[in-house]
Formats: sequence, structure tokens, C-alpha cells
Amino acid sequence: MSELDRLVELQGLDTRLDQLRYKGEHLPARSELEELHREVERLSGQRDEVAGARSELSAQQKRIEDEVALLDDKIGRENDRMYSGTITSPKELSAIQDELESLGRRKDHLEEKILDLMEAIEPVTSQVAEMETRLADIRAEAGRLEARVTTEQAEIDAEAAQVDSNRAALAAEIPPDLLSRYTKARAGRRDGVAVARLIGSTCGACGLSLPTMFVEQVRHSSGEELFQCEECGVLLAP
Ligand SMILES: [Zn+2]
Repeated sequence: MSELDRLVELQGLDTRLDQLRYKGEHLPARSELEELHREVERLSGQRDEVAGARSELSAQQKRIEDEVALLDDKIGRENDRMYSGTITSPKELSAIQDELESLGRRKDHLEEKILDLMEAIEPVTSQVAEMETRLADIRAEAGRLEARVTTEQAEIDAEAAQVDSNRAALAAEIPPDLLSRYTKARAGRRDGVAVARLIGSTCGACGLSLPTMFVEQVRHSSGEELFQCEECGVLLAP
């Protein structure tokens, strides 16, 4: 096997490694997973908003319930006073009676408000629960996708490790000067192709039809002299 043949083979392995890297970065499960993560973020934001509204309603309910508890205390004390037998003045008893009626009306009003709030809170609570359920479903789906990404990436990594080890063995057989020229040429190219074979009389990388004389030179090259495609600049191997 000539040095250029080895280089072409090395190019094949490097191209495979590039493909594997690309494949790993563009796994469909990976983009599906990113989509789900965005959905979780969006839904969590909505859930937080609705849950915040519910907390506010509950806090209102709590404040009114506290007020009712204070009223109950007061009503209890006034009742105790009225029935204690220590107050005999009809005027004073009638004043307590009036006060009790007023406290009762205030309490009725507050209890109505509590009922209204409870009615308002109920649908909001179910809304939060529905959102939690949807979030849990999406998170479970994301967990399955994560496992799939891990498995698929592990398969890719295993193949890449094998190719990489073949590549290391092959690279050790290529003269350092040639290898370094190849490496530099590859680094400067977006497609990572630095060496290609002639296909008939055309460049195997860009397809340019090359002059006959030049093609002959490439075909009979001992590998000492290197030829480049005038169009795309790859090193040409026979
Ligand atoms: Zn070319």
C-alpha cells in the first residue's frame, strides 16, 4: 500500500468520525428532547402564574376567616354578657341586642364572601392540578427520550472509539511530513476532505475534469511529489 493509499484510507476514517460526530449532535431524539424541555419551561411558567393567583385567593379567604373568628369571639362575649344576669337595665340589654344583630349581619356578609372565594378557588385548583399532570407526563416522556439519547450516543461513541483506534494505527504508518500536510489541509476545509482519488480523469472531491497530462502525472506519481486539484485544492491520489 502506497503512502497516498494510506492517506486516502485515513481520510475515509476521518470522514466517518466527522459523520459520527454530526450524527451524535443531530440525533432526532435530542431535538425532540430540547422541544420537550422548552414545553416544560413554558408550562411551568403558566402553572406558577395560576398557582400564584390561587395563593392570592386563598390568602384572601384566610384573612376573612380570621375576621370571622374574631367576630365569633365578640358575639360569644356579648351573648355571655346578655345572659349573665348581671345586666338588668332594659336599655343596656337592648343595646347589646342591637350590637349582636349588627355583628351577625357583618358575619353573614363575610361568610358570603368566603363562599364566593371558595367557588372562585375551586376551578383554579383543578387548573393547577391539570397542569401538574401534563407536566408530569411531559417529564416522563423526556425521561424516556433522555434514555434513548444516551443509548444512541453510546452506540455512536463505541463505533467512534473503534474507528479512532484504527485511525491511530494507520496514522502511525504515514510519514509525519505527509500526515502533517494532510492535517493542516483538512483543518482549512469545511467538508474536512483533504485527499481524494482520481475518478477517471476527474477530481474525486469536486468533480472537476482534469487535464490529461496532469492526470497521467498523478497516476504515475511515486508519492514523492504531491498533486493538488486546481479547483478545490485536495491532494490527489491515483
Ligand atoms: Zn477538486
